[in-house]
Amino acid sequence: MSADDNAFAVVADAWFDGERRHEGPATFLVRDGRIEDIAAGDRSAALADGGLAVRRGGFLMPGLVDAHVHLFLDGGPTDAKERAEHLKQPLDKLVEAARASARQSLECGVTLVRDAGDRHGVNNRIRGEARTPSAGFPRVRSGGLGVKRAKRYGAFMAADVDDPDSIRDSVAALARSNDEIKLILTGIIDFEAGAVTDEPQFTLEEARLIVETARACGRLTFAHCSGRLGLAIAVAAGVGSIEHGFFMDRETLSIMRDGQIAWTPTFSPVHFQWARPEAVGWSPQTVGNLRRILDDHARHLQLAHEMGVTLLLGTDAGSMGVRHGHAVFEEIERFVEAGLSLETALRAATSAARRHFGLASPVLARGGEFDALLLDASPFDDMANLQRPLAVWVAHPGSA
Ligand SMILES: [Zn+2]
Repeated sequence: MSADDNAFAVVADAWFDGERRHEGPATFLVRDGRIEDIAAGDRSAALADGGLAVRRGGFLMPGLVDAHVHLFLDGGPTDAKERAEHLKQPLDKLVEAARASARQSLECGVTLVRDAGDRHGVNNRIRGEARTPSAGFPRVRSGGLGVKRAKRYGAFMAADVDDPDSIRDSVAALARSNDEIKLILTGIIDFEAGAVTDEPQFTLEEARLIVETARACGRLTFAHCSGRLGLAIAVAAGVGSIEHGFFMDRETLSIMRDGQIAWTPTFSPVHFQWARPEAVGWSPQTVGNLRRILDDHARHLQLAHEMGVTLLLGTDAGSMGVRHGHAVFEEIERFVEAGLSLETALRAATSAARRHFGLASPVLARGGEFDALLLDASPFDDMANLQRPLAVWVAHPGSA
């Protein structure tokens, strides 16, 4: 093989392909953004003799995926007034904020995000900008603008729909620009009551119409949904994935497994409010509710894994205290705390999402896209090793 600007090799002491771990060194030959070969052992000397650039590291794995973010929101500020002011800024400021979120994600090794909605369509714009590699953004899968019921929760991320005609028209129009259709099925949890207290925004017939219209347009759906009533509608309607899904139950999980409905449990925003109750001013009783909700969520995550439900790792980055990129490490910790192996957590944060989204290269394999992180050492030795990628490669649509 000859020296070539579009080719290089990576040698790692061990690696994870997105599904399973591989021990012992391996040499990856990458050309034009694709993995031309994976060979056991360290072949760097021969390749370097051939004039090929070689990167070395302790561990190679697929780029991380955050399956639930809001790029136009900055999760850093925790002051409610400051957060409300952020939303009132002119569009160009929100676009700037989204660019900063995207860059921060990539620096943390997140090479793909699914944006779960913003009312201005900033996410679709960032998706376009991400196609230029010099932007330094992860690949963006965009939920554009979602759909919600008028006067109900979700105005910052969704448009109002009403009767069946408006549902059909809106979903078909949104499907032209969105990669997935987000439906806001329930409000947020009332933490003081320790429950979801509002009625679902859509009936089963309406939710089905959203799902079927999206499907006819070739689009998956993802549902913002927590609480028994909303979950029952979401799974019966056959959404592609349940987002949040607090107050989960075994019956819902079995329908999800059978219907191949994925789950993105997003522990991070609730965990933040439990860990830092003073940011919101929660009483000790509410903090107790938060802990109970998190523990119940962890139990159901473990159950979902045992039952074979597809798990996606998403953080809801942009929510209060949930920082783009960094939150992925914390969400992985939540999965591990819940009793899942790190391998299972990393699968949810890499191959499971790529497979659910229908991407061509869900794992690192010969002939596939090279979308990867090179780490100094294995995260299986110390999870903190994830946080310091030596190199990050993003597979961009259309680049290979
Ligand atoms: Zn969200």
